[in-house]
Amino acid sequence: MQHAESQSSFSRRSFLQLSTAVSTAVGLGIVTEPMLAWAGRKAVQKDAVIINQNENPLGPSETARAAATAMVQDGGRYQWELTEDLVETFAKIEGLKSEYVQAFPGSSDPLHFAVMTFTSPTRSYVTADPGYEAGMFTSERSGARVVKVPLTKTYAHDVKSMLAAAPDAGLFYICSPNNPTGTLTPHSDIEYLVEKKPKGSMVLVDEAYLHFCDAPSVLDLVKADKEIIVLRTFSKIYGMAGLRCGFAIGRPDLLEKVHNTGGWNFMPVPAVAAASASLTDPKLVPERRRVNAAIRTEVFDWLDRNRYAYIPSQSNCFLLDTKRAGKDVMDAMEQQGVIIGRVWPVMPTWVRITVGTRSEMDRFQVAFKRVMDGTAVGMGQRGPRRRNRDDFAYPA
Ligand code: PLP
Repeated sequence: MQHAESQSSFSRRSFLQLSTAVSTAVGLGIVTEPMLAWAGRKAVQKDAVIINQNENPLGPSETARAAATAMVQDGGRYQWELTEDLVETFAKIEGLKSEYVQAFPGSSDPLHFAVMTFTSPTRSYVTADPGYEAGMFTSERSGARVVKVPLTKTYAHDVKSMLAAAPDAGLFYICSPNNPTGTLTPHSDIEYLVEKKPKGSMVLVDEAYLHFCDAPSVLDLVKADKEIIVLRTFSKIYGMAGLRCGFAIGRPDLLEKVHNTGGWNFMPVPAVAAASASLTDPKLVPERRRVNAAIRTEVFDWLDRNRYAYIPSQSNCFLLDTKRAGKDVMDAMEQQGVIIGRVWPVMPTWVRITVGTRSEMDRFQVAFKRVMDGTAVGMGQRGPRRRNRDDFAYPA
């Protein structure tokens, strides 16, 4: 598979470059999923199974690949009108006015810009724990207090506790389905948060993984002109993480505030072409949702049979309890050629696993059982501890 081939070309050099990128990014305050996933890792073997950064192993769809490839020859032109068309297509599908939609090269940028816009030393950043960490790193840059609120017993965002914990809130970050748990926060809870939030604060809802499940979007709250911004990305179900395309969706006055922090984010035209082709293919999302759910169910059945504890996820990733230091299991799995992770400090024995292809998950299962049973070849002969993993410290 094309995607698998490109993964296998990872080299020691690219890891070193990535680790430089990580330090640069930390200096700038921009932190993204691949930086977090690869921080401190050394080179991995060429045929390793890469299920550590919530990508879609299917990559872009056939039509998206064809559209992107055809666009390369016109790549000498800015073609800003293609982005306008993309925005209009998306807005039409979602029943929005096009001025409520802003395209970005992925959703990391608007996430970062929103944190920079709405948080400050006097306006805190409020997020779930465990939750996607990127905004916490941006808060180091904006000088905001980071308020981490445990998920509820059903692994939803605890919106009442989030409100209570931060009367000084600048931004509430809700990720549903959540990264890393793959669990949902009910629409009614998000609506409650929007209604009750302190004056001047903003709610940012990250719907990066929404297409993997049946849950309703909160775009209806955007349509109702509420104080909410929604993020979408083509990196997950559409398999375009490397191509880069995403949206921020909100009232035009709110988008303008966010956009002003980021400057001029011009879109790469092959990504725009691939995104447009993806959006106009009505079969793509249902088919990929079905494939992901089928493989996830098989893996969960296997985990059940082997009595491993996991959090039932509705997404393309899930947390798995190793009942020992999760980082040690990550290391041992890496020696088996299966790259998993990461671990969230609040759940140190749990590791995040991305749902890969069926054959990747077969290899995951074999390696995981060996590691858990202590029969893995190479166990106990680990190389030197990685130098950098703990340098990328989770914000306190
Ligand atoms: N939001 C969440 C919850 C994510 O997990 C990720 C990446 O994994 C992103 C945003 C950023 O994705 P991208 O910048 O590729 O759109």
